Amino acid sequence: MKLALSLVSGALLASSVVGVSTSAHSMPLQVQKWREIQPNKVRFIPQIETTDKVFFITIDDGWTKDPAVAKWVRQTRTPITVFLTAVANPEDTSDFFRTVSRYGSVQNHTRTHKYLTSSSTDVNDEVCRIQSTYAKRYGERPWMLRPPYGNGGWPTAPRSERDRISSAVGPCGIKYVVNWSALVSNEGEFASQNGTDRIQAGDIVLLHFVPGLRDQLAALVERGRWSGLKPANLADYLRRPAPQQKSVTSHHGR
Ligand SMILES: [Zn+2]
Repeated sequence: MKLALSLVSGALLASSVVGVSTSAHSMPLQVQKWREIQPNKVRFIPQIETTDKVFFITIDDGWTKDPAVAKWVRQTRTPITVFLTAVANPEDTSDFFRTVSRYGSVQNHTRTHKYLTSSSTDVNDEVCRIQSTYAKRYGERPWMLRPPYGNGGWPTAPRSERDRISSAVGPCGIKYVVNWSALVSNEGEFASQNGTDRIQAGDIVLLHFVPGLRDQLAALVERGRWSGLKPANLADYLRRPAPQQKSVTSHHGR
């Protein structure tokens, strides 16, 4: 019965614990209590804790829109989380990002790609101002944020920096700040924080919309196969905010 407390202990005020009921079973209750106690709490994650044989593909920014990537996603049905910067796709004149995210989602990578911990950055303006636009375009209000350059997004970042980001983005619907545990460089080189050339279960892998991305994606999926891992939808491994269910028609109907 103390499990619920250990999950959230680092962030809880002692006075907030009073209302916690320990009568029901563990995991869903923990999450439920988390929401009740700290509805705007934002979690900072660089990877997913899971024993499932999965990893997660995330692609940032959005400057290069190579039709070969969209075609590859349609053919392979690979789940991809797009962290889109608004200035890279101002008019949204094509279905490119809807297609690429067809088995995943489009999430928030800020409006103009500034360092969020810079004192001159208005974090609320950078993140919250585009939430409704993305909701309209991509069928779901973003609830994950990737900070440009990962800046301020690591769980090891100073508490004051994380609190500043959380308090600015939590109220407009962001539940997770998502960094990464492995990456593919713009030149196609793989690197992992585990120090090997292997993807591990639960790894969140960062790529960018650059020329050559299609081949990078194919190579990455192959690399996962070496370890018996396949790409999964990141959103399925996090707690989606309850009132913001993605509608089936807006997502798959295009
Ligand atoms: Zn970026």
